Amino acid sequence: MLDDLDGQLAAACERLGLPAFRARQVRKWLLEKRAGGWDEMTDLPKGLRAELADALRLWTAEVVKHSAADDGAEKLLLQLAGGGRIECVLLRENVGPRAKQEGLRRTFCISTQVGCAMGCVFCASGLDGVERNLTTGEILEQVLLLERRLGPDERLSHLVVMGMGEPLANLDNLLPALDEVSRPDGLGVSPRRITISTVGLPPAIRRLAASEAGRRYRLAISLHAPNDELRSRLVPVNAKIGVDAVMAAADDYYAASGRRLTFEYVLLAGLNDRPEHAHQLVRLLAGRNALLNVIPYNPVAGLPYETPSMEAQRRFREILETHGVPIRFRHRKGDKINAACGQLRRSTPAGVVNPG
Ligand code: SAH
Repeated sequence: MLDDLDGQLAAACERLGLPAFRARQVRKWLLEKRAGGWDEMTDLPKGLRAELADALRLWTAEVVKHSAADDGAEKLLLQLAGGGRIECVLLRENVGPRAKQEGLRRTFCISTQVGCAMGCVFCASGLDGVERNLTTGEILEQVLLLERRLGPDERLSHLVVMGMGEPLANLDNLLPALDEVSRPDGLGVSPRRITISTVGLPPAIRRLAASEAGRRYRLAISLHAPNDELRSRLVPVNAKIGVDAVMAAADDYYAASGRRLTFEYVLLAGLNDRPEHAHQLVRLLAGRNALLNVIPYNPVAGLPYETPSMEAQRRFREILETHGVPIRFRHRKGDKINAACGQLRRSTPAGVVNPG
């Protein structure tokens, strides 16, 4: 039913001869009051709740594992009724004194595919390729399940589409889910606080830019290398695309959206962390309204890549800062619970059930 909330609710009201306000009540329960099931919707008559439960299937995923870290991060591993396992994460930022100045920051990170076809060599999500696209309902369900982990004084403030999968390979199902997240009568998250992260697929970036709904969101592009030789080694799809084409599509998105671009750069020891790479990045980003988001590598069991030393990180950062590139180093939140994409799924054998 989450695949088409309004459509399904309207159809059910029609079938059961219910007034339209019943649909609005159910929306409110699901999106504002974090209901976990029909039983909790206590202002609907009991008989009606039973009828709706028969007519509409609310949840399609089962939480097979819930993990929580000291820093407040929580992660869910979901078994989908339609097959496959995915992960989604809640990150709690500004937990200490910063909360007073900047407000509580509660970020959800969600998946868009079971597995991933992009094959980035350092990433756990794509090690077994892609199984399938998630449906709109499966994407939205992650958000609603994470909402239920929040305390009464916490609110979802930011959403990042940075979990498993390539979001721009599943735009048709993703956009309606994001619409529910941003609608004022949905979860009411401003589109400026919703970020779609992509490996950089130019035709899909242009499609997003051309769509009135799509260009409201922030776009993050996983660059990871400043030249084609290195990028094609780390991000194999680059061999067919090329850095220039990715940057041109990113520029078009910026022109259409007016939103500052983010470029992500996973820092891998000895591979893309040398001063020459930092200097090349300075040249590549010059003249662009862009933020460079550097993510020191989160090691994946079985893969040979390593996190650069603090000294290498500092040196890299200094070059970019000296040349005026806006840069942010992402803290490694949640790494104790394998919060980097696709890691929990791999570390949990099928069949282990440990609902939160
Ligand atoms: N497919 C999309 C979104 C998923 S990954 C994309 O490529 O952007 C979100 C970000 O996390 C990407 O920049 C990805 O390269 C990065 N990432 C993947 N595995 C990582 C790891 N082990 N450590 C740090 N970052 C990682």
